Amino acid sequence: MRNLYAALNNTEALNNENDHIMVTIRLHGKKRQITINAMIDSGATEDFIDKGFCSKYKIRTTQAKMIREVYLADSRPSAMGPITHTGKVPMDIGSHRELAIFQVAKLPNHEVILGMPWLKQHSPRIDWGQGKITFESERCTTWCLKESPTVYAIPQDEAQEENLKVEFGVAQSKKDQRVKVKKVDPQAKIPTRGSAHAAGHDLYANESKTIEARGQEVVRTGISITPPRGTYGGIAPRSGMAVKHQIAVNAGVIDSDYTGEIKVVLANTGNQDYGVKNGERIAQLITEKIV
Ligand SMILES: [Zn+2]
Repeated sequence: MRNLYAALNNTEALNNENDHIMVTIRLHGKKRQITINAMIDSGATEDFIDKGFCSKYKIRTTQAKMIREVYLADSRPSAMGPITHTGKVPMDIGSHRELAIFQVAKLPNHEVILGMPWLKQHSPRIDWGQGKITFESERCTTWCLKESPTVYAIPQDEAQEENLKVEFGVAQSKKDQRVKVKKVDPQAKIPTRGSAHAAGHDLYANESKTIEARGQEVVRTGISITPPRGTYGGIAPRSGMAVKHQIAVNAGVIDSDYTGEIKVVLANTGNQDYGVKNGERIAQLITEKIV
């Protein structure tokens, strides 16, 4: 059995400015809440949620009873792919709350599209030109609303830009096995990635100091560091310092909850005084997993 869908105006065909608006929704995923901008689109014959978005945010989807192909108005199969899953997720729009059911599809330009089923179910009054949505149906006032029934749409450019930021934010936080660095002294240099074969980031001196022959000194870096959770930061010597200048690092460890300034203990193992210059690379920072 095939179910035919009419054209999805805004995902695959030309935009018609007057039958869609963007609105901020909040989805209550299994693990977290996601605020994203959805398109309300009277040209969409279903309510859609993007497949990649669901897996990224752990929105629970269930296998549909029947696989359905999505067709365009000219009966070409849509690039959205067949609908194999539906997603069920609590959704807030302003103070309007519901358990939303979406068809999971590959949406090239959107995360969520609220189409005709949603529009019919809640019958909101929409001023498409003003971008004003009022929930006033009996169903909504009885079941969905907590406070004010009016929500304002946001400009489409702004909405899409915000959505990009949300997506980008996730990509970053996944990668966020990164060290968080804070300048204690505004003049301090942020650690930089060492040479290709070096394991860590170079730490810079934030003061000039002379280390006497056979002596040792505590040298400030002007920064504080929070290693990613589950890791610790270690201070290691830079090979050049040890070989060329006979400067060793009395290694320290930075716990992930350590927030004070990093100070490096440098020991001069040679027979000549060594002058550490402000801004000189003095050690490297290495993060390792706690086993
Ligand atoms: Zn409602």
